[in-house]
Amino acid sequence: MYRIGVVALLGLALLAAGVQAQESMRPAWMNASIGKLERELAVKYGEGQTPRLRLGMEQVAGVWRAEDGDAAAFEGFVRTYFAGDTATLDAMFSRYEYLLEQLDGHMNKTLLELRRQADMDLGPIMPFDEVFSAYDPAAHLSEDFFQNKVAQIALLNFPLTTLDQRLAEGDRWTRRQWAEARLAQRFSRRIPAEVNQAISAAQAEADQYIAEYNIWMHHLVNEKGERLFPAKLRLLSHWNLRDEIKACYSLADSRTAMAKQRMIQQVMERIVTQTIPEVVVNNPHVDWNPFTNTVAASTVNDGETPAPAGFAPSPAPEPDTRYRVLLSTFLASKKADPYSPTAPTLIARQFNESREIPEPRVEAMLKQVLTSPLVPRIAAIIEQRLGRPLEPFDIWYNGFKARGSYTEAQLDEIVSKKYPTAAAFEQDLPNILTKLGFSAAKAKYLAENIVVDPARGSGHAWGPRMRSEKAHLRTRVGEGGMNYKGFNIAVHELGHNVEQIFSLKEVDHTLLSGVPNTAFTEALAFVFQGHDLELLGLTKPDAASEALNTLNDFWGTYEIAGVALVDMAVWHWMYAHPAATPAELKEATLQIARDIWNTYYAPVFKKKDVVLPGIYSHMIHSFLYLPDYPIGHLISHQIEEQMRKAGTLGTEFERITRTGSVAPDLWMKTATGAPVGAEALLTATERSLNAIDQGSRK
Ligand SMILES: [Zn+2]
Repeated sequence: MYRIGVVALLGLALLAAGVQAQESMRPAWMNASIGKLERELAVKYGEGQTPRLRLGMEQVAGVWRAEDGDAAAFEGFVRTYFAGDTATLDAMFSRYEYLLEQLDGHMNKTLLELRRQADMDLGPIMPFDEVFSAYDPAAHLSEDFFQNKVAQIALLNFPLTTLDQRLAEGDRWTRRQWAEARLAQRFSRRIPAEVNQAISAAQAEADQYIAEYNIWMHHLVNEKGERLFPAKLRLLSHWNLRDEIKACYSLADSRTAMAKQRMIQQVMERIVTQTIPEVVVNNPHVDWNPFTNTVAASTVNDGETPAPAGFAPSPAPEPDTRYRVLLSTFLASKKADPYSPTAPTLIARQFNESREIPEPRVEAMLKQVLTSPLVPRIAAIIEQRLGRPLEPFDIWYNGFKARGSYTEAQLDEIVSKKYPTAAAFEQDLPNILTKLGFSAAKAKYLAENIVVDPARGSGHAWGPRMRSEKAHLRTRVGEGGMNYKGFNIAVHELGHNVEQIFSLKEVDHTLLSGVPNTAFTEALAFVFQGHDLELLGLTKPDAASEALNTLNDFWGTYEIAGVALVDMAVWHWMYAHPAATPAELKEATLQIARDIWNTYYAPVFKKKDVVLPGIYSHMIHSFLYLPDYPIGHLISHQIEEQMRKAGTLGTEFERITRTGSVAPDLWMKTATGAPVGAEALLTATERSLNAIDQGSRK
């Protein structure tokens, strides 16, 4: 949250171009006013304050607009709000920290209440409930704070920093300096409302395009006219299609499995290349052979509406809509570039501001996984387990999952007896936390800070945003009590809650509350989740199934790392070709997907020019989000390895979550001694491979 924006006037060489762009938007009087104030206030506060003053005025000048006032207004503003001595500055810092905590905390509490009926299992949701639950009271906060100048006051007094600075100097900064950096960052960009609206509109269009991209599986026919998939099965691209490929690995009949998987791969390739007939998308009235690409009016109807009379489907391909939609998200994002002088592209904003890990480092980590000598070793094991050579869809192989010692039904019975209600789970929290290694006192403290609510959906953890509030653990409890799946998720959410409590209430500055990004909080929640069987008093998974789980993680990271590289290369291509047509973007994307396949997958899969790495829907509607997935896997393994080494989950969990939201590398160094990287995953994978080799030699 609030990991928005970095405008820096400090790393000057790097930013020269951006600063120039910004200066050209300044009113003519600005430089004269800045010079005048500098001389005047040096007399008042002493020369020692001049560098701070100069920097602050430059930062304010960067966001000043005509509506904020003329030269006299600017000069009056600086005279009134510049904190020229330490006592005033300290008071300002403390007050901003306290007030922003109160504001965020109360906004969060309001939101929680507005969504109460929608999120909790409290009976029917009325139409008006939905209106309340969709309302976000904080939506206009940023605009308001530029209007009343709360934002400009912060920028006049606290320095903006670049990612380079935070990485190079951050480990020598005091905690107060880090807190000031986060405070200034919160106000670092002032994007005009019409630009934000354009971005939201492009986002909404892309979301809708993706949300309605269903394939009616019963209407896929092979050359014999057979339907391989059951009636009514409607799969959303790409998630459900990919998950159906995964589900096929557990089918007893491997020939049926492979026929289905090949067919889905063919559908995916038709989507990426846009040779898919437009008429088959989200349409149960058309039968389609994805190999020959022929369509016909369907002879069966498993949809909800009858086919239109005399319906004769056209084989015309989808007219590159996929790439037109992607292009509009790019063109909308680009509108924000002039207002982001230090991160003047969406690529820079995603890597330097949201993730805070530079793109070249991310690229290097992903390539380290993709080119690892462990890949062919795992590929050989998969081929052995499948009893056939790899096919391209096997990048989604998930057959490493070990079968547990207990059936789902046995586990359900144990859990439902133990936790018939959400209240029973809440009562047991101190006990659960003690079993996880927290001291009795700490377990009691944590339990007192967590409220368990019955959830409507599968569950979530809603953290407090001010220290006086509690965390909410939302969990699903059915008529017959909690089931195993619900318990497993509840333990995951409990991990989130404990992180939320430590990283808000035990961190030294609320401006530093939280963790660097969502990959960190997810990794921490998975640490809890991995202990769920032990919490039920059952034996934990043995070493062999742990080894298989690690191979599963590695293979998943290998797959998504290439997908992320495609996403990154496509955004670079769009920035290099801003006037491209959708058809040109399609050709470029296909080439990028094939190149990445040929470099990192073809040597293992023994097949060239596959376009599957271009299938992810995120690529179309998520603005360069995909690299978060492989980075998340790497971070998760670093934290797991650390927990293995430390041995005591409770104290270690508390130690690392008290660091707060400093830069990811610094956080990881404090937690594990090394910055974010691929080493932990590679080490764990090699250890697992060796264990499996030894096991098979016995
Ligand atoms: Zn989670």
